[in-house]
Amino acid sequence: MVNLGYKVLVNDGVRRHTDMRLPDGGPIVSSPVASTLILGEHDAVLVDPPFTQEQIQRVGDWIERSGKRLAFIYATHGHGDHWFGADTIMRRFPDAAAYATEKTIAMMHQQATTGRAQRWDADFPGLIPDSPVVFAPIPADGFTLEGHHCEAIEVGHTDTDDTTVLHVPSIGLVVAGDVAYNGVHQYLLESRDGGIQSWLAALDIVEALHPRAVVAGHKNRALPDDPAILGQTRQYLLDAQRLLDEKPTPLEYFDQMLALYPDRLNPGPVWYSAVALLS
Ligand SMILES: [Zn+2]
Repeated sequence: MVNLGYKVLVNDGVRRHTDMRLPDGGPIVSSPVASTLILGEHDAVLVDPPFTQEQIQRVGDWIERSGKRLAFIYATHGHGDHWFGADTIMRRFPDAAAYATEKTIAMMHQQATTGRAQRWDADFPGLIPDSPVVFAPIPADGFTLEGHHCEAIEVGHTDTDDTTVLHVPSIGLVVAGDVAYNGVHQYLLESRDGGIQSWLAALDIVEALHPRAVVAGHKNRALPDDPAILGQTRQYLLDAQRLLDEKPTPLEYFDQMLALYPDRLNPGPVWYSAVALLS
C-alpha cells in the first residue's frame, strides 16, 4: 500500500457586493478558502470544493494537473463556500462520489435555497454556479482511498452548526474545515448562546486525535499546516469571548481584536460579527 500525500490550494477571498464597509472604509471581502487534495498512487479525494466559478475552475485545473483520478469529494460542513462547486467538479470528473454527513446535507439544502437567495447571491451576484445538493450520506465507517481509511468526525457547532473534520489516521492528517483557522480572522457571527464554548469542545476532540497535520478551511497560504493552529484557534476564541463579555462598542471590539491579531487576514468578519453581536 503506497503512503498517501496531500496538497492544498488556497483561493483568495472575493469582494462582497454590500453597502457595508470596514471602519476605515475598506471593502468587505470573503475569507480565503482552502481546498485539499489527498493523493494516493492513482486516486485522490477532494475536500471542500470552493464556491465561485473562477475558484472552481482553478481547483478543477489543479486536480487535472495532479494526474490522479478524482474518486471522492468530501464537504466538512454546510456553508456554501465549502461545497457549492461540487456539482461543477463532478461534471468535469464524473468518477467522483460526493459524501457529507446527514446533518451537513440538511444544512446544504438550506444554503442552496434560502441561503443563496438571502446571502450568497446577494453578496456574490452571478459568480456562483448552479449548486444542486449532490452529496450522499457518508457511510458510518467512512470510505477508503487505496486501502487508507478516511473518516468523518462530527464535532458539533464551531463557526456554524453540525461541523466535521475528515481524519486520515494512516498519515495523521486532519482536514479541519472551519473547526480550525490558520492566520485568518475567525467567523463568530453564529457564536451566540454558547457557540464559543461548543467550538472549544470541538477543538478538544480534534486535539485528541493527535494529528500530525491540520489543514484549516480558511488559511493564509504562506503558513504550514501545523497542529499548533488548534491552540491558536482556541486562544483567538478565548480572547474574543473575554472582550465580548466586557460589552464594548463594535468599534472598540474590532480595534482590540486587530491589535491582538495584526497578522491575521481578512478583518471583515471581525467587523460584521461585532456589529451583529454588540449592537
Ligand atoms: Zn468557512
